Amino acid sequence: MVQPYGRCQHCGERLYAHIEGGYQCLNCGRRYTEEALEEQMA
Ligand SMILES: [Zn+2]
Repeated sequence: MVQPYGRCQHCGERLYAHIEGGYQCLNCGRRYTEEALEEQMA
């Protein structure tokens, strides 16, 4: 079960952990790295 993490900067939907690493928006398919999300959260 993937965990929601942050929000998509493009469409605002929740992000989910991606199997290959980082995170992905299931709504629009955008991928985010963990580093990018950490900057977003700061
Ligand atoms: Zn999105």
